[in-house]
Amino acid sequence: MAGARVLIVEDERALVKVLKFNLEREGYSVASAGDGLAGLAAFQADKPDLVILDLMLPKLDGFEFCKAVRKTSRTPILMLTARKEEVDRVLGLELGADDYVTKPFSVREVLARVKAILRRSRGPAGTEGALRAGSLEVDLERYEVKVAGKLAALSTKEFELLRCLLSAEGKALSRDEILEKVWGYDRALEIDTRTVDQHVARLRDKLGSEARRVVTVKNVGYRLKRD
Ligand code: CA
Repeated sequence: MAGARVLIVEDERALVKVLKFNLEREGYSVASAGDGLAGLAAFQADKPDLVILDLMLPKLDGFEFCKAVRKTSRTPILMLTARKEEVDRVLGLELGADDYVTKPFSVREVLARVKAILRRSRGPAGTEGALRAGSLEVDLERYEVKVAGKLAALSTKEFELLRCLLSAEGKALSRDEILEKVWGYDRALEIDTRTVDQHVARLRDKLGSEARRVVTVKNVGYRLKRD
């Protein structure tokens, strides 16, 4: 996705340097910030298409940064974590990070993730427009979900999950199918089907009066009731 703007929020200068060099070589335009507060300022000023975010940062850590960003934006966030234990927090809590890589990582891995996230967040060609079910409106182009006219603040993954269920047109999807569609094939992660359940629970929560549309199909997975 050449031309996309990437913001790196990371206090290890050597790491910023190597990421910046390689991202720019791929055609991305790259800004960076060395602490969480400077990162937030840069986020607001630059409006990046994707943020690469270190968890352990001076002034404002990655968790706080993520929470602050998610109040107003669904811009994809790729987390850099140094410890495996942090991963559950990153994915499990209401932080809204889209993906993560654990340190030490290869630059190639980060580049692959960045590409995949941007591809997913922009969506496949030919899916422009809006999908509707009752008072639920999904605007694929603007990445917006409304319930009874009110915006629902979905994370990128929750949005993808909803889109995936809507596009199945009432058919049930297994957790594995959902994992493939929403999280992609191109990941070497120990993400499992519980992740799907966690995201479904959060999605239902945010859909409020339309939560009933996300139906659990016993021994299979989920489907979206359109009528
Ligand atoms: Ca750090």
